[in-house]
Amino acid sequence: MNLSIIIPAFNEGESISHLFNQIKNSLSDKKISYEVIIIDDGSNDNTWVEIINISKKSKNIIPIKFKKNYGKSDALDAGFKRASGDYVLTMDADLQDDPSEISPLYQMITRDRLDIVSGWKKKRNDPFSKTIPSKFFNYVTRKLSGIPLNDFNCGIKIYRKDVVNSINLYGEMHRYIPLIAKWNGFNKIGEKEVNHNRRKFGITKFGMERYLRGFLDLLSVSFVYRFRKRPMHFFGSIGVLFFMLGFISVGWIIYEKISKISENIPLEQIRPVTDQPLFYIALISIIIGIQLFLVGFLSELIIQINSDKKGYKIDKSGEGRKN
Ligand code: UDP
Ligand code: MG
Repeated sequence: MNLSIIIPAFNEGESISHLFNQIKNSLSDKKISYEVIIIDDGSNDNTWVEIINISKKSKNIIPIKFKKNYGKSDALDAGFKRASGDYVLTMDADLQDDPSEISPLYQMITRDRLDIVSGWKKKRNDPFSKTIPSKFFNYVTRKLSGIPLNDFNCGIKIYRKDVVNSINLYGEMHRYIPLIAKWNGFNKIGEKEVNHNRRKFGITKFGMERYLRGFLDLLSVSFVYRFRKRPMHFFGSIGVLFFMLGFISVGWIIYEKISKISENIPLEQIRPVTDQPLFYIALISIIIGIQLFLVGFLSELIIQINSDKKGYKIDKSGEGRKN
């Protein structure tokens, strides 16, 4: 099997049959063998009925149904786990991603031997309320990740099978698949301009909250992938910093007190330690430092317990192998 096409669908009943016909037509004269995995993400319209209808007519459709709405990331993840093609393409079910782009994306990833080719909706048919924040979002993600993509959250993307095998999607992490892939060592990432249609049926499933959530996810994705194997380096170093700050301040307070006593200043003229803001700051600093240190320690324990799940992957195509 050359290609698995993965389509998450949440209340997209009206689009399903058009979508499948367009996919079929666009690939009919190409020599690409493919399967279409459609995931009904707990829809409450006729999406599932539509999926079953088309799957009766065609053998290469694999329908998956979620019991409730888990979100696009979980739907994609279920598709990734089920895919058996050498390459895996994801696209939205709402006909905004154009099936005529499937073949060019496949040609590009195979010809240029890339890990990922991401679509770029250069001429985007969406309202301004979406396009403007999205430009900012892409700019920040580009700067933070160092990946030169214009459109991280484009629904249509194609991956080598290895790439999706290395990824566990959850929450709303589908926005960051290129970042997660890069951190897993897949850095041959290409981009191709794609045609983008206006939504014809149904409504968008993500409101303005997508930007706040997207931003928080960007922070956690950057954090988790940097420190997931060595949390003590993160928590411990900040903890030590806080602890040292507190410790030095306490040292200073004691030194000041002793030096005043040794200068024979009468005790009632020396400011009591508990009267100084620095004393409280020092105290809090020491406590925060110890807390952070303990959090780091706990995280390390959790990693030890799960240490059988190795986070690294050996590149089997590595050069110079003897066997
Ligand atoms: N989607 C999904 N589960 C959800 C939300 C969305 O499977 O909880 C699917 C949706 O059916 C569509 C794709 O994800 O196929 C993209 O959603 P949408 O078109 O609403 O996003 P937008 O184009 O507005 O970014
Ligand atoms: Mg859409």
